[in-house]
Amino acid sequence: MQVVFLGLPGAGKGTQAVSIAEEFRIPHIATGDMFREAQAAKTPLGKEVQEYLDRGLLVPDELTIRLVRHRLGQPDARHGFLLDGFPRTLPQAKALDDMLAEENLALTHVLYLEVSQAELLQRLTGRRVCSACGANYHVTLHQPRIEGTCDRCGSALIQRPDDRPEPVTVRLQENLERTGMLAEFYEARGLLGKIDGEGPIGHVYDEIRRALRGDHS
Ligand code: AMP
Repeated sequence: MQVVFLGLPGAGKGTQAVSIAEEFRIPHIATGDMFREAQAAKTPLGKEVQEYLDRGLLVPDELTIRLVRHRLGQPDARHGFLLDGFPRTLPQAKALDDMLAEENLALTHVLYLEVSQAELLQRLTGRRVCSACGANYHVTLHQPRIEGTCDRCGSALIQRPDDRPEPVTVRLQENLERTGMLAEFYEARGLLGKIDGEGPIGHVYDEIRRALRGDHS
């Protein structure tokens, strides 16, 4: 099972991917999380990508592809994976095809979580994340039990620098056209499944699960 989640920032890819990866027992590979971890650990990669992340700009393809190639080469990704936030450009999509073809593999599902722009703006600027475990919350749509504190690990919730209104606008613009092109790229290959990402989290989850199981009832 080689799965890609497509969708604009804030479409719910991360939230859904965590549970889907757990249920289907495949690693959840999120390039945004990997870049943020590198940044927090102040690795050379982290320093190189800092500026892009803070401003909401895409990291250059060459760097991103190298990171994903390395990650997909790890033993836990041999029997499937769920990619979240990659590919984001056509060169990345083509590089992914090549990486998989080298292992005689191909993508099995590409699911596009569709959400309107207005809803995305509201979701992103209200998003809060756990500073330790990365769990997602929202100031009105998904509040933690104790304000400012993660339900899962008790650590402080923060706002990602790129979830402030200005970088959010840049990120949406950066991704809008590219995501549309990627959707067309995968649709032309008969791989694309569209998911209405606007409903309640549990409802969207059921739709994704049905699509992955090939159950169209
Ligand atoms: P995300 O958590 O997916 O919204 O990603 C956060 C940031 O990481 C993006 O705004 C980009 O700066 C960077 N990033 C994540 N994935 C990619 C990718 N596939 N290509 C380029 N940049 C990426």
